[in-house]
Amino acid sequence: MKNLKLAAGEIGQKTVVRVGNIEIGRQFVVIAGPCGVETEEQTLETARAVKAAGADMLRGGAFKPRTSPYSFQGLGLRGLKILEKAREETGLPIVTEVIDPRDVSWVSEFADILQIGTRNMQNYTLLKEVGRSDRPVLLKRGMYSTLEEWLNCAEYILSEGNPNVILCERGIRTFEKYTRNTLDLSAVPSIKELTHLPIIVDPTHGTGRISLIGPMSLAAVAAGADGMIIEVHNNPKAALSDADQALTPQMFAELMKRVKPLKAFMEKLPE
Ligand code: PEP
Ligand code: MN
Repeated sequence: MKNLKLAAGEIGQKTVVRVGNIEIGRQFVVIAGPCGVETEEQTLETARAVKAAGADMLRGGAFKPRTSPYSFQGLGLRGLKILEKAREETGLPIVTEVIDPRDVSWVSEFADILQIGTRNMQNYTLLKEVGRSDRPVLLKRGMYSTLEEWLNCAEYILSEGNPNVILCERGIRTFEKYTRNTLDLSAVPSIKELTHLPIIVDPTHGTGRISLIGPMSLAAVAAGADGMIIEVHNNPKAALSDADQALTPQMFAELMKRVKPLKAFMEKLPE
């Protein structure tokens, strides 16, 4: 692929993104939490539960890029303060989305990882701005994007001086309607052939169906993903966004009991 001066890297090069003592690209990292931060109680309860089940980081949007302008847009600063409280209590680092270049510098004061969502993957002004931040960036794949377009977006961030980019496969639009998106798991080994950057999988947005999140999480482990990001809500029915795809804390705990042994088994397989 042309022009991937930094994203392609040298043969054998592998980027490890460090957040505290977590090493993304070396260990399998699980990020879990609600789609959106709604209340202190909802976020803290969910954070405690995902921590107890073995999650490494907490996710939660304070800025929600919604299809309709009348849907819940997130709590903004108030949401970030709730996330900060959850981090203080649980020790879990925070992954949260930023949608506006003007917000990057102050949101960075709260976030351990800045998420760029699928709708903003090609927002070049935003990419350049997070490229100048000292926070790692979780770059989700655009729902209509090829691997080449996606990697060029990673290149935008890298070329501004931020080496800590984590890619996230979250499903693409196809003609299939049964699932919310089509989770392209072939992206995982493909990305590993094309770049040194770590890649995680989002089986929540990738399927949009509770029943498929478990199987696709296990498939992501088997495909060689460096981690996964999963939506969990303390009371999914009451969620203000993505209610149909949030796992209960109990479902998440059950899933973690299967993910960890599978990862351990995969590590023992011959090359
Ligand atoms: C999210 O993570 O809640 C989200 C909005 O994801 P995506 O950008 O992949 O739709
Ligand atoms: Mn969501």
